[in-house]
Amino acid sequence: MSKNFVNREDVEKLVAMNKAFKLLRERQKENIKRYPEIESIAKKIRSVRERSIGNRELLSESIENFEKKGFDVYLTKNKDDAIKVVTELLEGERVVVKSKSNVAKEIGLREELENRGVEVVETDIGDRIIQILNEDASHPTGPAAHLSVKMIAEKLSNHFKTEIVPSAEKIVEVLREDIKKRVEKAAVGITGANAITREGAIVVIHNEGNIYEVMHRPKKWIILTGIDKVYPSLEDAVAAAKVQSFFATGEILPSFIEIISGHAKTADIEKKLIKSGSPENIALILLDNGRGEISASEFKEILYCIGCGNCVANCPAHSVYGSRFAGGRFALVDAIKGDKDILRLCLSCKKCKKNCPMEIDIPRMISSLREGSELYNFLISHAMWLNEKLKVELLRMAFRFSVS
Ligand code: SF4
Ligand code: SF4
Repeated sequence: MSKNFVNREDVEKLVAMNKAFKLLRERQKENIKRYPEIESIAKKIRSVRERSIGNRELLSESIENFEKKGFDVYLTKNKDDAIKVVTELLEGERVVVKSKSNVAKEIGLREELENRGVEVVETDIGDRIIQILNEDASHPTGPAAHLSVKMIAEKLSNHFKTEIVPSAEKIVEVLREDIKKRVEKAAVGITGANAITREGAIVVIHNEGNIYEVMHRPKKWIILTGIDKVYPSLEDAVAAAKVQSFFATGEILPSFIEIISGHAKTADIEKKLIKSGSPENIALILLDNGRGEISASEFKEILYCIGCGNCVANCPAHSVYGSRFAGGRFALVDAIKGDKDILRLCLSCKKCKKNCPMEIDIPRMISSLREGSELYNFLISHAMWLNEKLKVELLRMAFRFSVS
């Protein structure tokens, strides 16, 4: 929490991030007129989550159905357990391709595999930018939101040793080409999952088309997700995907919703079921990592989260402190994991709760975790925030960055 903004790059990142979040809010505001039903769908999903989180019977039934369909299922207790399973499943493969997964991020999977000499290639454009530029993500579904096109072009030009013009189209073209070559070399792909269902289906949503390639690597598809992702039905999971898409991107539907409930197979010859196509194996790793304990505590509500990131995009503390205060639910999770000190930066403004489709009372949990009186915290956090905002504003003017 001690790092201060002192340079042009920090301010440029903040300006770019706030610009991206402003655009997201505008798109949501415009599209809510066309899809007013999203609010009632979100309320329904909240009640589904209330019944599903911590429901061991539902989870067991789901696992049983996955196993019947030929998935290898691994229930893992913690980070070390999950990393051990992934490492064993790789069976010595030295290159893996991967798509966005908050659970992989939670256990530091990429770094852990890289430390073991495995080349891990991120295939989402935002994640690949973050990986190459060695940056922290600023939003769960828009990790590179804090980087301007100019900044990305400059750094990628150094990385690829060729000049890349500062155009979003050109950057995407260069990265796509590079990712494509690497995907073709990989026998194993790792993805997350937005939902797993009681019937034994995986639901994955994406916009870039990359997940399709990752899950169809010839040897193995490894799905890494949390035990909290379980839904009682496929219909509920798809409804949750719509809510997540709207609050993450402003669009009611993502470009792709993948629903997978088994291996590629055919029964065209004498009605015998024959497994065909890729991948040869599908492994589903379900991570607990404290979720079981949280689901029985006063923090249970945090597990209703569908990972849209709207609390982050509307958090005034994150908009000024950037990566020093992850914002909304993510700042709270950081604090639960150990760094409670960061909660001093929360302004108790309740904007995270107001903008959360699951109506998760993040401010209540922050104040229950934070030490000191509410009035004291309110005054201190606002004094620090005003001071920081003024500093950032002065630097922005000095560097002549435009906010609009
Ligand atoms: S209450 Fe705290 S975490 Fe929530 S939006 Fe306000 S500053 Fe951010
Ligand atoms: S806490 Fe709410 S707003 Fe934040 S990511 Fe989760 S569902 Fe979205």
